[in-house]
Amino acid sequence: MRIGRTMDDQIGVVEGDEFVDVTAVLAEISPCTYPLPRYDRLISELERLRPRFEDLARTAPRRRLRDVRLASPVANPGKIVAAPANYRRHLEEARADPGISFGAQVAGIREVGLFLKASSSVIGPSQNILLRNTDRRNDHEIELSVVIGAEADRVRRDDALNCVAGYCVGLDITLRGPEERSLRKSADTYSVLGPWLVTPDELGDPSGLELRLLVNGSPRQAARTADLVLSVPELIEFASSFYTLMPGDVIMTGTPEGVGPIAPGDHIEAAISGIGTMTVHVAAA
Ligand code: MN
Repeated sequence: MRIGRTMDDQIGVVEGDEFVDVTAVLAEISPCTYPLPRYDRLISELERLRPRFEDLARTAPRRRLRDVRLASPVANPGKIVAAPANYRRHLEEARADPGISFGAQVAGIREVGLFLKASSSVIGPSQNILLRNTDRRNDHEIELSVVIGAEADRVRRDDALNCVAGYCVGLDITLRGPEERSLRKSADTYSVLGPWLVTPDELGDPSGLELRLLVNGSPRQAARTADLVLSVPELIEFASSFYTLMPGDVIMTGTPEGVGPIAPGDHIEAAISGIGTMTVHVAAA
């Protein structure tokens, strides 16, 4: 199943080129009181609500997808976990290009581990990337993004995929420079998630996917998730050995080679096989 969210918070099942409005499903989530939970409540109940999604979709109103403005399929991610240098060839290009590595030797993911991006940086494909610090280099990074569906503390890799609610295409927009990654990658709009969430039963094995990114129609990145240094199950095992992953948490699995600068006026087309394609416009903040 493919589940999308519009910029005015309609929830839909995506079938072919149609958005089937099943927003009524939100009435099934129990109301909440202060303090709000630090996880996404729709994602946490996705499995329970799955039959309701299917019932509603049979008779719900349909719109053409191209008429729908899409937000991030996860409304309230508690944390965005991100993997640095998780493709060998991207690590090599970063080490060779001082514009990416900023003079410092870049270490592999087994040495540096993971970092966090601010959840306030998340947008969907129909919202523009608003670049800050446009006098410096801002890059695109396409990343398979994993949405956690169940609380996961110290999960072993063999069980890890049972904690996944679904997958989406991610863009880890990155200001290059000497500051910490978490600062340079956390500006408002610097995490794009979309075009929708694809559940694991539909996607299958996340290690067999192809990623492709174009800027203004020119190919920039093309790679396969088979080349990840740490696979999706290994990333979940590693992340959950440090902190509990919660429903709606997102793991951005790292970008392959071919990163490059973007500027206001550009448009990015980002696609992952089995998930979909999203086109995102770039503007100045
Ligand atoms: Mn990245």
